[in-house]
Amino acid sequence: MPAGLSVGGALGDPSPSRRFRPSRYVPVSAATIFLVGATTLFLCFTCPWLAERFSSSIPVYNVVVFLFTLANFCMATFMDPGIFPRAEEDEDKEDDFRAPLYKTVEVRNIQVRMKWCSTCRFYRPPRCSHCSVCDNCVEEFDHHCPWVNNCIGRRNYRYFFLFLLSLTTHIMGVFGCSLLYILYHTEQLNEVHSGVTMAVMCIAGLFFVPVAGLTGFHIVLVARGRTTNEQVTGKFRGGVNPFTHGCCKNVSHVLCSSQAPRYIGRLKQTQSLQVQPPFLRPQLSEAQLAAKALDNGIQQSKSSLEAMESQSTDIEPPPPPKPEHRYQGLPHTHNEESSLLSEAPPTPALYKYRPSYSSPGKNHTHSTHKL
Ligand SMILES: [Zn+2]
Ligand SMILES: [Zn+2]
Repeated sequence: MPAGLSVGGALGDPSPSRRFRPSRYVPVSAATIFLVGATTLFLCFTCPWLAERFSSSIPVYNVVVFLFTLANFCMATFMDPGIFPRAEEDEDKEDDFRAPLYKTVEVRNIQVRMKWCSTCRFYRPPRCSHCSVCDNCVEEFDHHCPWVNNCIGRRNYRYFFLFLLSLTTHIMGVFGCSLLYILYHTEQLNEVHSGVTMAVMCIAGLFFVPVAGLTGFHIVLVARGRTTNEQVTGKFRGGVNPFTHGCCKNVSHVLCSSQAPRYIGRLKQTQSLQVQPPFLRPQLSEAQLAAKALDNGIQQSKSSLEAMESQSTDIEPPPPPKPEHRYQGLPHTHNEESSLLSEAPPTPALYKYRPSYSSPGKNHTHSTHKL
């Protein structure tokens, strides 16, 4: 094989140790079932009467809000939150032991500490943190949300925030419409439609308090330019937040800024650079490899050599004889090497005594010629 250079490993799999854990999918499955199930029941059992009695815009409004909520939910769930690829195993290996635990950088004249991540083998950039659930370093890490089964970071925070806002709106809409239905059906509460509507109302009421509370919390965070992680760990307690740009700019940054780039998944497979300059030997065929073993003195039977030569000549005709050529009995295809030898002045000494490192048999310490 020619010399290969791996360049894609760091951008491939970010976390080799990440395993499939079914328990992680319970909260996100429950959230999906509650969201989709309760909305479907509401649209099927409650909305038709409301559309008939009041306005057809009621189901339309609820469907639009529901679809917007679902879209943001999916984006927050499936989007890459901004995972940093890990450094290669052999990269900065010594630094892992010698490097100090912290380095400081200056952000708007404020010193910010960057901690060495021993798992990912780099200094975490400001606002980056290592998620213990996903086992990855995430850019502008906010928190790990079990309800969307994903980290919330720089790339998907916008969708998470919009999901919270739209979910609160959706819950309020469903609860209000269901209440309206019940108020008009106080005499028929034992009917199926009334029962389903009351059940949906209970689910909406149950989820409203925590969802609305979380939404309010994140509205404050966005306005102050903080992440949940920074708020909970008290990072700027008594200090100044170098990442805030004022309330309006913070809000517009979360909602309107351009999408941050992805750091993983751009190169799915390891790419090999095939280094084949003219002075390297071409890839050898099976017959040529066997003959090369002969050349190195491993097999020295003359009859086998003749058999090999005849076998080789069956495949391709022999080239014109070249003086000082190492493999006189071997056929050569027309390639860069042969063209170089025929057109440019040859470098026989270099070619002859260069260690044969491209041999796959690892028997290339012996350079005595038997031919
Ligand atoms: Zn890390
Ligand atoms: Zn996570």
